[in-house]
Amino acid sequence: MKHDCSHDYFAKAKEVIPGGVNSPVRAFKSVGCDPLFIERAEGSRIYDADHQSYIDYVGSWGPMILGHCHPEVVRAIQDAAVNGASFGAPTYKEIELAEMVCEAYPNIEKVRMVSSGTEATMSAIRLARGCTGRDKILKFDGCYHGHADSLLVKAGSGAATFGVPTSPGIPADFAKYTLTATYNDLDEVKSMVAANKNEIACIILEPIAGNMGCVPPQPGFLEGLRELCTAEGIVLIIDEVMTGFRVAFGGAQERFNVRGDLVCLGKIIGGGLPVGAFGGKKELMDQLSPEGGIYQAGTLSGNPLAMSAGIATLKLLKQEGFYEQIEEKSAYLEAGLRQAASKSAIPTCLQRVGGMFCTYFCEGPVNNFSDASKSDTEAFSRYFRTMLDSGINMAPSQFEAGFMSVAHTKQDLDQTIEAAEKAFALL
Ligand SMILES: *Cc1c(COP(=O)(O)O)cnc(C)c1O
Repeated sequence: MKHDCSHDYFAKAKEVIPGGVNSPVRAFKSVGCDPLFIERAEGSRIYDADHQSYIDYVGSWGPMILGHCHPEVVRAIQDAAVNGASFGAPTYKEIELAEMVCEAYPNIEKVRMVSSGTEATMSAIRLARGCTGRDKILKFDGCYHGHADSLLVKAGSGAATFGVPTSPGIPADFAKYTLTATYNDLDEVKSMVAANKNEIACIILEPIAGNMGCVPPQPGFLEGLRELCTAEGIVLIIDEVMTGFRVAFGGAQERFNVRGDLVCLGKIIGGGLPVGAFGGKKELMDQLSPEGGIYQAGTLSGNPLAMSAGIATLKLLKQEGFYEQIEEKSAYLEAGLRQAASKSAIPTCLQRVGGMFCTYFCEGPVNNFSDASKSDTEAFSRYFRTMLDSGINMAPSQFEAGFMSVAHTKQDLDQTIEAAEKAFALL
């Protein structure tokens, strides 16, 4: 396919925007081609500046579970815009979305809205530190929780793609409070907790690790962390920014029946607009200002456009059979991709939970970041480029999940599988 316009725009963008993009993975750097500039999207498809259409499995990195431009979401945003884009004062819509979130996550008794997932995790950690009076936090190698200083340590995704596990600009004195453990290794966590007795404020994790592809928790892992945190007075922060409203209405916590003390949300709750949220038990949440002394704020927090898009989205997700549809479509695609991958000359491993999935180019299973790192990223790049040429937009990094939307048709899925057959055969 020809990408003349996108090439041209990218060259121009690089003159005024660092790297030509406003978020690093968008630059397609690791897959050896220029990014597409997108003009519009509808349903399962996005259209680039050269008027070519692609079946989209990026879904804006997760939010677009309804597909792009769902008419009811568009209408909600339009209606809200007519009444004013932002007031810096409370609105009824904030109550409405908060109630929906509390209903979906029974361990969220109170929730605060922010404008991104990064803000949600950053604020949840401050809250955990403030409530426990402890400084250290424990995260997992390959889990990404946004780009706050203390969290940009062994952070998967963009960081892994670019081989920069820890960014310059983060004082060693900050990073030293961040302990990192191996995902799915409960024994290691236990010994780290024992070695830092009464010093760890929180354990934060992705309940399904989607920023190193798609790594499900092994049986007992989440349960073991829950037990450990309760016993040690550690706040368990479950970062459901990606998995929340994605793998079930109540997220991974509903799916695995393990509950965090604090929960971070983002992506889908904004319906494509900038939103994040964090919530949990009253005793913790009430320590936030203005009720308590732990500071957190935002000029655009609870923005009426974003609340409206979120409310409209969640209403549609609540409809009977929604997640069954996502599961059915995802299982169909998985079966087709597996079949196609079986013809590849190099080993592959497909992992999927609900509407999120990843194909690794190595022997499976992939249980942690060091397993994921064994994937042949050169092979992934070739696969990615062949798929793109066939009109399929996959995430431009080995370490990102693919996302299904309800708007993907059987014809879309068959076309994807057909393209994959070609792409795997060429490896
Ligand atoms: C995307 C993501 C974030 C960061 O959200 P932003 O809105 O990009 O700041 C945090 N945690 C997880 C698990 C994510 O997938």
